[in-house]
Amino acid sequence: MTKNHVKIENSECKGCGVCVDACPKGCLTIGKEINEQGYAYVKFDSENCTACGMCFYVCPEPGAITVYKAEKK
Ligand code: SF4
Ligand code: SF4
Repeated sequence: MTKNHVKIENSECKGCGVCVDACPKGCLTIGKEINEQGYAYVKFDSENCTACGMCFYVCPEPGAITVYKAEKK
């Protein structure tokens, strides 16, 4: 079964940190690596993601965040 998770499109992220602040589970952090636009992009790392979608809704960059909800069997 796939877990709840978030995929960051590294090249679309501007490193604004809005999603980092919005996530109630602390799943997102600004990483150390720089994308081709020169921004330190967000990293997702957590077992606690609820797929609530908050990060997706607050992100100003279309396509930077995709939220995947675990399938219930
Ligand atoms: S979907 Fe919700 S819990 Fe998961 S990373 Fe985004 S804001 Fe955090
Ligand atoms: S809100 Fe969007 S653009 Fe801003 S850091 Fe998060 S993923 Fe990147």
